[in-house]
Amino acid sequence: MEIKNTIAGQQEYFNSNQTKDVDFRIRQLKKFNKILKENEEVLYKAIYEDFGKSKFETYVSELSLLYHEINNFIKNSKKWSQRKKVPTGFANFPAKSYLIPEPLGMTLVIGAWNYPYQLSLVPAITSLAAGNTVILKPSELPSKTSRAMAQIINTHFSSDYFHVVEGGAEETLELLEYRFDKIFFTGSIAVGKIIYQAAAKHLTPVTLELGGKSPTFVLPDTNIKMTAKRIVWAKFLNSGQTCVAPDYILVDKSIEAKFLQALKHEIETQHKSTAKNIEENYLRIINTHNFDRLKKQIDTNKLYFGGKTNREERFISPTILHNVSFEDAIMQDEIFGPILPIVSYTNLDEAIKLVKARPKPLACYVYSKNRKKIAKLLKEISFGGGAINDSLMHLSNSNLPFGGVGLSGIGNYHGKAGFDTFSHYKSILDKPFWFETNLKYAPYSKKKMKIIKWLLD
Ligand code: NAD
Repeated sequence: MEIKNTIAGQQEYFNSNQTKDVDFRIRQLKKFNKILKENEEVLYKAIYEDFGKSKFETYVSELSLLYHEINNFIKNSKKWSQRKKVPTGFANFPAKSYLIPEPLGMTLVIGAWNYPYQLSLVPAITSLAAGNTVILKPSELPSKTSRAMAQIINTHFSSDYFHVVEGGAEETLELLEYRFDKIFFTGSIAVGKIIYQAAAKHLTPVTLELGGKSPTFVLPDTNIKMTAKRIVWAKFLNSGQTCVAPDYILVDKSIEAKFLQALKHEIETQHKSTAKNIEENYLRIINTHNFDRLKKQIDTNKLYFGGKTNREERFISPTILHNVSFEDAIMQDEIFGPILPIVSYTNLDEAIKLVKARPKPLACYVYSKNRKKIAKLLKEISFGGGAINDSLMHLSNSNLPFGGVGLSGIGNYHGKAGFDTFSHYKSILDKPFWFETNLKYAPYSKKKMKIIKWLLD
């Protein structure tokens, strides 16, 4: 009943046209920014209780991105909401042509658990910035963060405008019974298919932000020390529970030994105490189900470094596996944890072939100083987005649309791309009365045909 009433309320509210006023939207974004700041301690506490995420990591990988996006929308929503003039052409002289961005209506945002604030709230505020109403369904797995978002949003916003519905599969399926004007989903490929099918019943447009195995190429001419430093940070941030984390490494055989040593050195430097025990900046695995799944992936015959685990604490230390091949169990599905398999290659073309035989990944990274080889990889492999000589950081540039391709997703967001994702561009031809040719009207003639051809060809 709660869901039914909320949906009816949002439909009515959207139809009142209040969200179409850009000043209204900016006021709501400013209000939300203020509320978030006032409740930061609540947010930090909840996420720490859920999976031991420190204030530092929460700020750097969740809240800073959220604040950046809110401020970006506060600054640019007016400009992005204006009609855009486009050329008209002779055939319609003396008309004008333009596109009017308009909100889609009532939107549903479904979040994933691994960055519970960022992955729920960035799409939600993007939708609000574009002038929609939002129902947000965060992941139920980090229950404290889900509760914190529900309490903060539902006490400060009318449910007719912005509302959190908590729950898991059952509640999501109930929501999906209704017709939304847009569904934005972040999560697994398997659930993405369920969402897509449910949306199809209503012909609702979807954005699906999914996952997959993101390869990382390490070529022989790279700066080994810097490569290891950046990869260790990106892989073990959030304990590897990151959709765009380097899932596995493809390293040139000639530098494999040196690169492995550099990785070990970096883990020892960046995670001094993690090797033995849990440190403040190192997360737990989200639940025992995932802990057990990951532990099984640590093949002790291939263990190069790490491999310490503690089930009670849901702790897995940064772990490196070497001598891994594409046939190994760890290479079959997205890892989504702090285990980094190293696959060495002797022929880059063969390595590319193996990557291309799999579903298109969400991200791909290449570490090299050889621009020709970099260009080759960028041309030959299809993937959502990525970085050269870095990992993950492409997400922090809101001028780079973020999303997958093929099985890693449909559509994208961040910055203007997000605004467009939650907007419809209404195409308008605008004509005055003072001029009209008779060319298109009957009776037709050869002469008219000739002139039309001359004008339009
Ligand atoms: P998930 O698919 O299990 O859950 C995502 C959401 O769907 C949750 O809100 C959950 O409550 C809901 N859900 C779960 N089962 C459902 C069902 N049967 N019917 C309807 N709804 C259901 O994903 P997850 O475990 O939260 O996240 C991990 C996956 O998400 C990984 O594959 C990861 O790569 C991907 N991911 C992608 C991105 C991205 O931006 N592309 C970001 C984070 C995570």
